Amino acid sequence: MALLISLAGVLGLLCGSFANVLIARVPAREPWANERSRCPRCGHELAWYDNIPVLSWLWLRRRCRYCAAPIPARYPIVELATAALFAAVVAVHGASWLTAGLLYLALASVALVVIDLDVQRLPNGLVLPAIPAVLGAVAAQASADGDWWMLARAALGGLVLGGFYFVLWLIYPKGLGFGDVKAASLLGTALGAVGWDALAVGGILGPLIGGIAGTVAIVRHRAVAGVRIPYGPWLIAGAWVGLLAGPEIWTSYMNVALGA
Ligand SMILES: [Zn+2]
Repeated sequence: MALLISLAGVLGLLCGSFANVLIARVPAREPWANERSRCPRCGHELAWYDNIPVLSWLWLRRRCRYCAAPIPARYPIVELATAALFAAVVAVHGASWLTAGLLYLALASVALVVIDLDVQRLPNGLVLPAIPAVLGAVAAQASADGDWWMLARAALGGLVLGGFYFVLWLIYPKGLGFGDVKAASLLGTALGAVGWDALAVGGILGPLIGGIAGTVAIVRHRAVAGVRIPYGPWLIAGAWVGLLAGPEIWTSYMNVALGA
């Protein structure tokens, strides 16, 4: 198991490197494949050894080898975050079809969080393909376990969480982007597959953390009401707490609430 988790971490570093490519190219509508990475400042094509996750950044002392432009710490942070998420998914969900779907979701989630912080948008190109990818993995898991209720739960989770944000969006279209509605539907699908307890914890934590963060931002910056605060990162972070620890949190909460 320790070996499997380490392998997942290494795979996560590589996928985190790919997440950096998505973060740079998807919002700019550039093709993300078939082209080597370049330095954003001098345009020099990067060799494979300039592109090793985290290590190249340390080795090059945080500067481009060709023009010495500083390389933001964001690159290795994205790689490490993806690695941590991958390792956690495998530690919690083992080697399974569901894990394959959650790893895909982890890669998309990291890219979406950074893109939303950058440009206040959750691009369809990342959100929409992830829905069939997660559903496909859940269907494979349901078939392997003979547990078709899991697939039904995933579909219901997507409808419930997506529907909830759709209503919020109808009430307050300026505060919430429609991208948040689609992302909620994607996250609800994965949460539903893990369980009702995961869906409850992940679904409640997103608005809770997002609401607190939004209130703090408005108070601190005296932001005008109606200004859009990137909500995607909180929605996604809340969902990941649910995906990784939802059942445990739900059980402890119920124990406390029921005084058991
Ligand atoms: Zn350069």
